[in-house]
Amino acid sequence: MSQPVPESNNPADVRMRGFVQRSTVDEVLAWLDGVLAPLARELVPIVTAGGRVLAEDVMAGCDVPGFERSMMDGYAVVAEHTLGAAPYQRIRFSVVDQSLPGRPAKRSIDRGSVIRIMTGAPLPAGADAVLPAELTEADGDDIWVQGEVSPGKNVGQVGEDIGQGCVILSAPRRLRPQDIGVLSSVGIAEVPAYRQPNVRIVVTGDELLPAGTTPSGYQITDANGPMLQALCARDGGLPVNPGIVPDQPEAIRAAMNEDVDVVLVSGGSSVGQEDHAPLLLARDGELRFHGIAMRPSSPAGMGRLGSRLVFLLPGNPVSCLCAYDFFAGRAIRALGGRDPDWPYRSVHRTLRRKLVSAVGRVDYARVRLIDDQVEPLAISGASILSSTSRADGFVIIPADSEGYAAGSLVETWLYQP
Ligand code: AMP
Ligand code: MG
Repeated sequence: MSQPVPESNNPADVRMRGFVQRSTVDEVLAWLDGVLAPLARELVPIVTAGGRVLAEDVMAGCDVPGFERSMMDGYAVVAEHTLGAAPYQRIRFSVVDQSLPGRPAKRSIDRGSVIRIMTGAPLPAGADAVLPAELTEADGDDIWVQGEVSPGKNVGQVGEDIGQGCVILSAPRRLRPQDIGVLSSVGIAEVPAYRQPNVRIVVTGDELLPAGTTPSGYQITDANGPMLQALCARDGGLPVNPGIVPDQPEAIRAAMNEDVDVVLVSGGSSVGQEDHAPLLLARDGELRFHGIAMRPSSPAGMGRLGSRLVFLLPGNPVSCLCAYDFFAGRAIRALGGRDPDWPYRSVHRTLRRKLVSAVGRVDYARVRLIDDQVEPLAISGASILSSTSRADGFVIIPADSEGYAAGSLVETWLYQP
């Protein structure tokens, strides 16, 4: 079953030839959008469904409230019986019972009587309004009423919150905590949601030390693995990252072949001697794109291996982040039923210094917001990951643009949600 590992004299070997031609970002996105569709649905208990994407509309099977209830503490009355009551013309009533939440009154109301009632308690038979306690004065078992109420006053109607048969939440909504409360209030215990994509993070690089290790000698500590896990979790994926994979074709192939929906390979995505993943993907599956006209991230690639989508992300941390955000994140969000577009908010601000780009290439420029203006970051090489932490966001310079002059109004995407 096992095929021989790739050799560099293999004619299919893309390595050390350089990228002859790069695909455009638009081509890549068009292909990606064509192959992406939400995964199958599954039933999820509502207590764990926060943040999940609803796969079907949900209808209420009952009214909420299911009974007429008091909106305040006071006295249930027949509104008509209070007509004419005023501070100088008080009317006396006897309090014949009480209604508490979940414990209705046993008696009903007739002329001359009222029933003490608490907020949320059922309105007693015969009553049609609730008189606020402030409009009354106690006198033994009686009260003096010194104001009128109109019918329906301070009474919550059946179904006024949620009506039986109405759609309470529509697909593809991402469930908020309060949605979970609404679902529970109509007695729903589980909801159909899109399955979350399983994502295998394959961090390659013999020079890497595991996350959490202090770098020493010529070794550097893995930054991409934990970053990709966080990105993936943000986008609704279920990341698996068991540790660094050596720069060996067999090890990388085994990791890429695990039973998941998406594979993210970090490092070794380019055309160097140690860059095995593109060749493996070209041989075992489909290397649909390799080399993209963008900066950073130009040595990125992607394709399919069986039913898996595979993203080859450059090892340089800024490139890795950028390629993830442009392509892999889009896929993970779409598979989980979320909006595929960037999970960032954008603002339009004036540029303090010019931003240059080459025509034919998309640029991802990290920027800071200073005094409400956009300042491009001076150190912006692909290996300077901290530039993305210092940045407030980024500006995209599209392929057909040479950049923006100082003073232009530019759309700035903000990292902070
Ligand atoms: P590569 O894409 O494998 O050629 O790596 C490009 C650069 O990124 C090299 O300087 C690597 O050492 C560095 N690099 C690769 N993987 C990681 C990682 N997981 N974390 C931090 N830096 C990395
Ligand atoms: Mg490498």
